[in-house]
Amino acid sequence: MRPDLLARLADVQAERARASLLRRLRNVELVDGATIVVDGRRLLDFASNDYLGLAQHPALREALARAAARWGVGAGAAHLLGGHRSEHADLEDALARWTGRERALLFSTGYMANLGVVTALLGADDLCVEDKLDHASLLDAAQLAGCALKRYVHGDVASAARQLRAKPDAAALLATDGVFSMDGDVAPLRELARLAHAERATLMVDDAHGLGVLGADGAGSVAEAGLTQDDVPVLMGTLGKALGVAGAFVAGSAALVDGLVQSARTFVYTTALPPALAAATRVAIDVARHEGWRRDRLQRLVAHFRAGAAARGIGVLDSRTPIQPVVVGDSAAALALSQRLGDAGFFVPAIRPPTVPKGHARLRVALSVRHAESDVERLLDALAGASR
Ligand SMILES: *Cc1c(COP(=O)(O)O)cnc(C)c1O
Repeated sequence: MRPDLLARLADVQAERARASLLRRLRNVELVDGATIVVDGRRLLDFASNDYLGLAQHPALREALARAAARWGVGAGAAHLLGGHRSEHADLEDALARWTGRERALLFSTGYMANLGVVTALLGADDLCVEDKLDHASLLDAAQLAGCALKRYVHGDVASAARQLRAKPDAAALLATDGVFSMDGDVAPLRELARLAHAERATLMVDDAHGLGVLGADGAGSVAEAGLTQDDVPVLMGTLGKALGVAGAFVAGSAALVDGLVQSARTFVYTTALPPALAAATRVAIDVARHEGWRRDRLQRLVAHFRAGAAARGIGVLDSRTPIQPVVVGDSAAALALSQRLGDAGFFVPAIRPPTVPKGHARLRVALSVRHAESDVERLLDALAGASR
Protein backbone atom coordinates (compact mmCIF):
# COMPACT_ATOMS: atom_id res chain seq x y z
CA MET A 1 0.00 0.00 0.00
CA ARG A 2 1.18 3.51 -0.72
CA PRO A 3 2.51 5.22 2.46
CA ASP A 4 0.73 8.38 3.58
CA LEU A 5 3.19 11.26 3.54
CA LEU A 6 1.73 13.25 6.42
CA ALA A 7 1.38 10.17 8.63
CA ARG A 8 5.03 9.38 7.97
CA LEU A 9 5.98 12.94 8.91
CA ALA A 10 4.13 12.52 12.20
CA ASP A 11 6.07 9.28 12.84
CA VAL A 12 9.37 11.08 12.34
CA GLN A 13 8.22 13.70 14.81
CA ALA A 14 7.27 11.11 17.43
CA GLU A 15 10.68 9.45 17.00
CA ARG A 16 12.39 12.83 17.49
CA ALA A 17 10.37 13.50 20.63
CA ARG A 18 11.49 10.16 22.09
CA ALA A 19 15.13 11.10 21.42
CA SER A 20 14.77 14.58 23.01
CA LEU A 21 15.28 16.07 19.56
CA LEU A 22 11.97 17.82 19.09
CA ARG A 23 12.32 21.53 18.32
CA ARG A 24 9.80 24.01 19.58
CA LEU A 25 8.79 27.26 17.92
CA ARG A 26 8.44 30.01 20.51
CA ASN A 27 6.84 33.40 20.04
CA VAL A 28 8.94 36.28 21.22
CA GLU A 29 6.40 38.86 22.30
CA LEU A 30 8.71 41.75 23.02
CA VAL A 31 12.35 42.77 22.59
CA ASP A 32 13.87 45.27 24.98
CA GLY A 33 17.67 45.56 24.80
CA ALA A 34 19.05 42.15 25.71
CA THR A 35 15.74 41.09 27.22
CA ILE A 36 13.00 39.19 25.39
CA VAL A 37 9.55 38.20 26.54
CA VAL A 38 8.63 34.59 25.70
CA ASP A 39 5.42 32.94 26.91
CA GLY A 40 4.92 35.93 29.18
CA ARG A 41 8.34 35.42 30.83
CA ARG A 42 11.14 38.01 30.69
CA LEU A 43 14.37 36.30 29.69
CA LEU A 44 17.88 37.59 29.14
CA ASP A 45 18.58 36.64 25.52
CA PHE A 46 21.84 34.72 24.94
CA ALA A 47 20.73 33.24 21.62
CA SER A 48 20.75 36.15 19.19
CA ASN A 49 23.39 36.61 16.47
CA ASP A 50 22.93 40.38 16.76
CA TYR A 51 26.47 40.54 18.16
CA LEU A 52 27.02 44.26 17.59
CA GLY A 53 23.58 45.31 18.83
CA LEU A 54 22.58 46.79 15.45
CA ALA A 55 19.15 45.19 15.02
CA GLN A 56 17.64 47.77 17.38
CA HIS A 57 19.97 50.66 16.49
CA PRO A 58 18.14 54.01 16.08
CA ALA A 59 20.13 55.00 12.98
CA LEU A 60 19.15 51.75 11.23
CA ARG A 61 15.49 52.12 12.18
CA GLU A 62 15.54 55.65 10.83
CA ALA A 63 17.23 54.65 7.57
CA LEU A 64 14.69 51.86 7.11
CA ALA A 65 11.74 54.17 7.70
CA ARG A 66 13.14 56.91 5.47
CA ALA A 67 13.85 54.48 2.62
CA ALA A 68 10.42 52.86 2.99
CA ALA A 69 8.85 56.31 2.66
CA ARG A 70 10.79 56.82 -0.56
CA TRP A 71 10.74 53.36 -2.16
CA GLY A 72 7.74 51.66 -0.57
CA VAL A 73 8.04 48.23 0.97
CA GLY A 74 8.56 45.44 -1.57
CA ALA A 75 10.90 45.53 -4.58
CA GLY A 76 8.05 43.97 -6.56
CA ALA A 77 10.21 41.91 -8.91
CA ALA A 78 13.38 39.90 -9.32
CA HIS A 79 16.63 41.87 -9.78
CA LEU A 80 16.77 41.11 -13.50
CA LEU A 81 13.15 42.11 -14.08
CA GLY A 82 13.09 45.63 -12.69
CA GLY A 83 13.49 44.85 -8.97
CA HIS A 84 17.10 46.10 -8.80
CA ARG A 85 16.89 49.56 -7.19
CA SER A 86 19.79 51.98 -6.84
CA GLU A 87 19.67 51.17 -3.09
CA HIS A 88 20.68 47.59 -3.95
CA ALA A 89 23.48 48.77 -6.24
CA ASP A 90 24.78 51.21 -3.60
CA LEU A 91 24.79 48.45 -0.99
CA GLU A 92 26.66 46.09 -3.32
CA ASP A 93 29.30 48.77 -3.86
CA ALA A 94 29.62 49.34 -0.11
CA LEU A 95 29.97 45.60 0.57
CA ALA A 96 32.63 45.24 -2.14
CA ARG A 97 34.60 48.18 -0.72
CA TRP A 98 34.35 46.90 2.85
CA THR A 99 35.48 43.37 2.02
CA GLY A 100 38.14 44.50 -0.45
CA ARG A 101 36.52 42.75 -3.38
CA GLU A 102 35.95 43.97 -6.91
CA ARG A 103 32.19 43.40 -6.82
CA ALA A 104 29.40 42.00 -4.67
CA LEU A 105 25.97 40.55 -5.45
CA LEU A 106 22.99 40.52 -3.09
CA PHE A 107 20.93 37.44 -2.26
CA SER A 108 17.76 37.18 -0.15
CA THR A 109 19.38 34.98 2.51
CA GLY A 110 22.66 33.28 3.26
CA TYR A 111 21.06 29.94 2.55
CA MET A 112 20.10 31.13 -0.93
CA ALA A 113 23.52 32.67 -1.54
CA ASN A 114 25.27 29.39 -0.77
CA LEU A 115 22.88 27.38 -2.94
CA GLY A 116 23.23 29.89 -5.76
CA VAL A 117 26.99 30.22 -5.89
CA VAL A 118 27.83 26.53 -5.42
CA THR A 119 25.31 25.33 -8.04
CA ALA A 120 26.50 28.02 -10.46
CA LEU A 121 30.12 26.89 -10.09
CA LEU A 122 29.86 23.10 -9.84
CA GLY A 123 28.32 20.32 -11.92
CA ALA A 124 28.24 16.53 -11.99
CA ASP A 125 31.93 16.03 -12.93
CA ASP A 126 33.25 18.37 -10.24
CA LEU A 127 34.39 18.11 -6.64
CA CYS A 128 33.33 20.04 -3.55
CA VAL A 129 35.49 19.60 -0.44
CA GLU A 130 33.93 20.83 2.80
CA ASP A 131 34.71 20.93 6.50
CA LYS A 132 32.58 18.37 8.42
CA LEU A 133 31.08 21.23 10.44
CA ASP A 134 30.22 23.54 7.53
CA HIS A 135 26.78 25.11 7.67
CA ALA A 136 23.85 22.99 6.43
CA SER A 137 23.30 25.34 3.49
CA LEU A 138 26.81 24.63 2.12
CA LEU A 139 26.23 20.88 2.35
CA ASP A 140 22.80 21.18 0.73
CA ALA A 141 24.34 23.35 -1.99
CA ALA A 142 26.87 20.68 -2.95
CA GLN A 143 24.15 18.06 -3.00
CA LEU A 144 21.98 20.24 -5.21
CA ALA A 145 24.93 20.82 -7.55
CA GLY A 146 25.17 17.05 -8.05
CA CYS A 147 28.98 17.09 -7.72
CA ALA A 148 31.10 14.72 -5.67
CA LEU A 149 31.02 15.96 -2.06
CA LYS A 150 33.95 15.07 0.21
CA ARG A 151 34.02 16.23 3.81
CA TYR A 152 37.18 16.60 5.88
CA VAL A 153 37.88 16.38 9.59
CA HIS A 154 36.94 19.66 11.24
CA GLY A 155 39.69 22.25 10.86
CA ASP A 156 42.16 19.63 9.58
CA VAL A 157 44.05 20.94 6.55
CA ALA A 158 45.86 17.61 5.95
CA SER A 159 42.50 15.88 5.80
CA ALA A 160 41.25 18.52 3.35
CA ALA A 161 44.35 17.91 1.23
CA ARG A 162 43.68 14.16 1.11
CA GLN A 163 40.11 14.78 -0.04
CA LEU A 164 41.26 17.15 -2.79
CA ARG A 165 44.02 14.79 -3.99
CA ALA A 166 41.56 11.89 -4.24
CA LYS A 167 40.20 13.55 -7.40
CA PRO A 168 43.19 15.48 -8.78
CA ASP A 169 41.69 16.15 -12.21
CA ALA A 170 38.26 17.41 -11.18
CA ALA A 171 37.46 21.12 -11.03
CA ALA A 172 37.23 21.72 -7.26
CA LEU A 173 35.71 24.10 -4.75
CA LEU A 174 37.13 24.06 -1.21
CA ALA A 175 34.40 25.53 0.99
CA THR A 176 34.54 26.41 4.67
CA ASP A 177 32.77 28.51 7.25
CA GLY A 178 35.03 31.38 8.39
CA VAL A 179 33.65 31.15 11.94
CA PHE A 180 31.84 27.89 12.71
CA SER A 181 28.28 28.70 13.68
CA MET A 182 27.82 26.15 16.49
CA ASP A 183 31.43 25.94 17.71
CA GLY A 184 32.63 29.53 17.43
CA ASP A 185 36.14 28.61 16.29
CA VAL A 186 37.81 30.18 13.26
CA ALA A 187 38.87 28.08 10.23
CA PRO A 188 42.62 27.81 9.46
CA LEU A 189 42.11 30.16 6.53
CA ARG A 190 45.74 30.89 5.61
CA GLU A 191 46.59 27.19 5.47
CA LEU A 192 43.45 26.45 3.47
CA ALA A 193 44.32 29.24 1.05
CA ARG A 194 47.80 27.77 0.60
CA LEU A 195 46.31 24.33 0.00
CA ALA A 196 43.73 25.63 -2.47
CA HIS A 197 46.47 27.43 -4.37
CA ALA A 198 48.73 24.35 -4.47
CA GLU A 199 45.86 22.10 -5.59
CA ARG A 200 44.40 24.60 -8.07
CA ALA A 201 41.10 24.53 -6.19
CA THR A 202 38.90 27.59 -5.64
CA LEU A 203 38.51 28.60 -1.99
CA MET A 204 35.11 29.76 -0.77
CA VAL A 205 34.56 31.18 2.72
CA ASP A 206 31.12 31.56 4.32
CA ASP A 207 31.73 34.37 6.81
CA ALA A 208 28.22 34.60 8.27
CA HIS A 209 29.57 34.90 11.82
CA GLY A 210 32.87 36.65 11.12
CA LEU A 211 31.60 39.69 9.23
CA GLY A 212 31.31 42.68 11.56
CA VAL A 213 32.98 40.77 14.39
CA LEU A 214 36.53 39.96 13.23
CA GLY A 215 39.16 42.09 11.50
CA ALA A 216 40.28 45.62 12.22
CA ASP A 217 37.24 47.33 10.70
CA GLY A 218 34.98 44.31 11.01
CA ALA A 219 35.56 43.10 7.46
CA GLY A 220 35.58 39.54 8.77
CA SER A 221 37.71 36.45 9.22
CA VAL A 222 39.18 36.62 5.71
CA ALA A 223 40.34 40.21 6.18
CA GLU A 224 41.69 39.36 9.63
CA ALA A 225 43.75 36.57 8.06
CA GLY A 226 45.10 39.10 5.54
CA LEU A 227 43.70 37.15 2.58
CA THR A 228 42.87 38.90 -0.68
CA GLN A 229 40.41 38.19 -3.45
CA ASP A 230 43.11 36.08 -5.14
CA ASP A 231 43.39 33.88 -2.05
CA VAL A 232 39.66 33.62 -1.41
CA PRO A 233 37.94 34.14 -4.76
CA VAL A 234 34.46 33.43 -3.36
CA LEU A 235 33.41 35.22 -0.18
CA MET A 236 29.89 34.89 1.20
CA GLY A 237 28.59 37.08 4.00
CA THR A 238 25.21 37.48 5.64
CA LEU A 239 23.44 40.68 6.61
CA GLY A 240 21.13 39.22 9.26
CA LYS A 241 23.67 38.46 11.97
CA ALA A 242 26.17 41.08 13.18
CA LEU A 243 24.74 43.62 10.72
CA GLY A 244 21.32 43.27 12.31
CA VAL A 245 19.24 43.35 9.11
CA ALA A 246 18.54 40.45 6.68
CA GLY A 247 19.92 39.09 3.42
CA ALA A 248 23.33 38.05 2.16
CA PHE A 249 25.92 38.65 -0.54
CA VAL A 250 28.65 36.97 -2.52
CA ALA A 251 31.76 39.07 -3.18
CA GLY A 252 34.63 38.49 -5.57
CA SER A 253 35.84 39.34 -9.05
CA ALA A 254 33.70 41.04 -11.69
CA ALA A 255 33.84 37.77 -13.62
CA LEU A 256 32.40 35.87 -10.65
CA VAL A 257 29.57 38.34 -10.10
CA ASP A 258 28.74 38.61 -13.80
CA GLY A 259 28.61 34.81 -13.94
CA LEU A 260 26.33 34.61 -10.90
CA VAL A 261 23.93 37.14 -12.39
CA GLN A 262 23.51 34.72 -15.33
CA SER A 263 23.72 31.36 -13.57
CA ALA A 264 22.83 31.55 -9.87
CA ARG A 265 19.24 30.32 -9.91
CA THR A 266 18.56 31.56 -6.37
CA PHE A 267 19.46 35.04 -7.63
CA VAL A 268 17.60 34.89 -10.93
CA TYR A 269 14.32 33.30 -9.82
CA THR A 270 13.52 35.25 -6.68
CA THR A 271 12.23 38.64 -5.64
CA ALA A 272 14.84 41.27 -4.75
CA LEU A 273 15.20 42.23 -1.08
CA PRO A 274 13.07 45.20 -0.01
CA PRO A 275 15.17 48.25 -0.97
CA ALA A 276 14.64 49.79 2.47
CA LEU A 277 16.53 46.85 3.98
CA ALA A 278 19.42 47.66 1.64
CA ALA A 279 19.37 51.26 2.87
CA ALA A 280 19.39 50.14 6.51
CA THR A 281 22.24 47.73 5.78
CA ARG A 282 24.40 50.54 4.40
CA VAL A 283 24.02 52.36 7.69
CA ALA A 284 24.80 49.09 9.51
CA ILE A 285 28.07 48.80 7.57
CA ASP A 286 29.02 52.37 8.52
CA VAL A 287 28.37 51.69 12.20
CA ALA A 288 30.10 48.29 12.10
CA ARG A 289 33.17 49.72 10.34
CA HIS A 290 33.63 52.85 12.34
CA GLU A 291 32.46 52.01 15.85
CA GLY A 292 35.36 49.76 16.80
CA TRP A 293 34.35 50.04 20.45
CA ARG A 294 31.62 47.50 19.71
CA ARG A 295 34.22 44.86 18.78
CA ASP A 296 36.41 45.84 21.75
CA ARG A 297 33.47 45.47 24.07
CA LEU A 298 32.56 42.07 22.58
CA GLN A 299 36.15 40.91 23.11
CA ARG A 300 35.99 42.02 26.76
CA LEU A 301 32.70 40.14 27.25
CA VAL A 302 34.18 37.02 25.63
CA ALA A 303 37.23 37.20 27.92
CA HIS A 304 34.99 37.79 30.94
CA PHE A 305 32.76 34.85 30.07
CA ARG A 306 35.68 32.49 29.49
CA ALA A 307 37.51 33.46 32.67
CA GLY A 308 34.29 33.13 34.67
CA ALA A 309 33.49 29.74 33.13
CA ALA A 310 37.00 28.44 33.87
CA ALA A 311 36.79 29.68 37.47
CA ARG A 312 33.49 27.84 37.94
CA GLY A 313 34.59 24.65 36.19
CA ILE A 314 32.13 25.10 33.31
CA GLY A 315 33.32 23.33 30.15
CA VAL A 316 33.37 25.71 27.17
CA LEU A 317 34.65 24.97 23.65
CA ASP A 318 37.83 26.74 22.52
CA SER A 319 36.49 29.91 20.87
CA ARG A 320 37.57 33.56 20.73
CA THR A 321 34.35 34.73 19.05
CA PRO A 322 31.01 35.71 20.67
CA ILE A 323 29.83 32.11 20.08
CA GLN A 324 30.70 30.34 23.34
CA PRO A 325 29.32 26.79 23.39
CA VAL A 326 28.90 25.06 26.74
CA VAL A 327 29.58 21.36 26.26
CA VAL A 328 26.88 18.93 27.45
CA GLY A 329 26.91 15.87 25.15
CA ASP A 330 23.57 14.19 25.72
CA SER A 331 20.53 15.78 24.05
CA ALA A 332 18.14 15.24 26.97
CA ALA A 333 20.69 16.70 29.39
CA ALA A 334 21.23 19.75 27.17
CA LEU A 335 17.49 20.29 26.92
CA ALA A 336 17.06 19.98 30.70
CA LEU A 337 19.91 22.43 31.32
CA SER A 338 18.38 24.91 28.88
CA GLN A 339 15.03 24.59 30.67
CA ARG A 340 16.60 25.16 34.09
CA LEU A 341 18.28 28.28 32.73
CA GLY A 342 14.90 29.38 31.37
CA ASP A 343 13.42 29.00 34.84
CA ALA A 344 16.26 31.18 36.12
CA GLY A 345 15.49 33.88 33.51
CA PHE A 346 17.93 33.12 30.68
CA PHE A 347 17.23 32.19 27.07
CA VAL A 348 20.04 29.83 25.98
CA PRO A 349 18.80 27.23 23.50
CA ALA A 350 20.03 23.64 23.46
CA ILE A 351 21.63 22.79 20.13
CA ARG A 352 21.10 19.13 19.30
CA PRO A 353 21.63 16.77 16.35
CA PRO A 354 21.37 17.03 13.42
CA THR A 355 22.55 20.63 13.85
CA VAL A 356 25.58 19.25 15.70
CA PRO A 357 27.01 15.69 15.56
CA LYS A 358 25.46 12.96 17.73
CA GLY A 359 26.67 13.10 21.34
CA HIS A 360 27.75 16.73 20.95
CA ALA A 361 24.64 18.52 22.18
CA ARG A 362 25.42 21.84 23.79
CA LEU A 363 24.15 25.16 24.94
CA ARG A 364 25.13 27.82 22.45
CA VAL A 365 25.82 31.01 24.38
CA ALA A 366 25.97 34.00 22.04
CA LEU A 367 27.36 37.23 23.49
CA SER A 368 26.36 40.68 22.29
CA VAL A 369 27.31 44.26 23.08
CA ARG A 370 23.76 44.49 24.41
CA HIS A 371 24.91 42.44 27.40
CA ALA A 372 26.40 44.07 30.48
CA GLU A 373 29.24 42.34 32.31
CA SER A 374 26.79 41.82 35.16
CA ASP A 375 24.47 39.93 32.74
CA VAL A 376 27.33 37.60 31.87
CA GLU A 377 28.14 37.17 35.55
CA ARG A 378 24.54 36.22 36.34
CA LEU A 379 24.46 33.75 33.46
CA LEU A 380 27.67 32.10 34.70
CA ASP A 381 26.25 31.76 38.21
CA ALA A 382 23.05 30.27 36.82
CA LEU A 383 25.04 27.86 34.61
CA ALA A 384 27.16 26.74 37.53
CA GLY A 385 24.03 26.28 39.68
CA ALA A 386 22.06 24.46 36.99
CA SER A 387 24.93 22.13 36.00
CA ARG A 388 25.34 20.77 39.54
C1 LIG B 1 23.16 31.67 9.35
C2 LIG B 1 24.12 31.04 8.41
C3 LIG B 1 23.83 30.93 7.06
C4 LIG B 1 22.49 31.27 6.50
O1 LIG B 1 22.30 32.64 6.47
P1 LIG B 1 20.80 33.22 6.47
O2 LIG B 1 20.94 34.58 5.94
O3 LIG B 1 20.35 33.16 7.88
O4 LIG B 1 20.02 32.31 5.57
C5 LIG B 1 24.81 30.44 6.22
N1 LIG B 1 26.01 30.06 6.70
C6 LIG B 1 26.32 30.13 8.01
C7 LIG B 1 27.66 29.70 8.47
C8 LIG B 1 25.38 30.61 8.91
O5 LIG B 1 25.66 30.66 10.21
